[in-house]
Amino acid sequence: MMGDRDYRKVIKNSIQSVGRELDYKFAKDDITKIHTSEVTGCLRRAFYDRTDEIEVDRTSFSDLVGGMFRKLEFGAQPTDFSLEDISLKVQADLIADDLVMIFRSVGEFPEGPIAKDLLYINACLWGYDKMDGVLIYIDGKGDEISFSVTKNKKMFEETIRRVRVLQNYLNEKKTPTLEPSSECTNCQYFERCYTKKKAGKTINFFGAGNDFLNSMKS
Ligand code: SF4
Repeated sequence: MMGDRDYRKVIKNSIQSVGRELDYKFAKDDITKIHTSEVTGCLRRAFYDRTDEIEVDRTSFSDLVGGMFRKLEFGAQPTDFSLEDISLKVQADLIADDLVMIFRSVGEFPEGPIAKDLLYINACLWGYDKMDGVLIYIDGKGDEISFSVTKNKKMFEETIRRVRVLQNYLNEKKTPTLEPSSECTNCQYFERCYTKKKAGKTINFFGAGNDFLNSMKS
């Protein structure tokens, strides 16, 4: 806090507003349209996002990197892949020379492509009818690492299976089962799925009562 203004709060609110603007856009009340980002992550999270949403807590501008590319004049436009009764919506970040690109910010570089990002970029390859893509991870220092990806039918079939599963859950208004993964740690629904997040209590030995200290001696 400086003077009368809470600058941290102003910055955080700015990140939230920019994040909202850059998010994938789709009608959450229409279950005949499913966005790929919903089915490549946790289905329970996607269900909550549509039925009883808590806004995700964005804390850093680096979380917004992919969306910034999409907003550029030459950013990739959204497209649909028709599954007859369902329209699967996809949007890459950039497409250049027939190469589909997805950017993700990470704290630490992964050893290989992250599964949900692989499913996502693969669905983009089907949506845009392209053969090759590249997943680019950018860390907090601005360094990058990239992985090339080739269109894969089996992987896309799994995405389609998940689209149908999510639609069924939404149709039946039934909460999907827990999908424990690393995604849970920063998920806004953590407390609905597990328990309240609590910081570990610090034990102050110096402030302990005599009874406690005596019991340690015996
Ligand atoms: S906490 Fe985990 S299981 Fe629960 S909605 Fe979030 S990502 Fe899914």
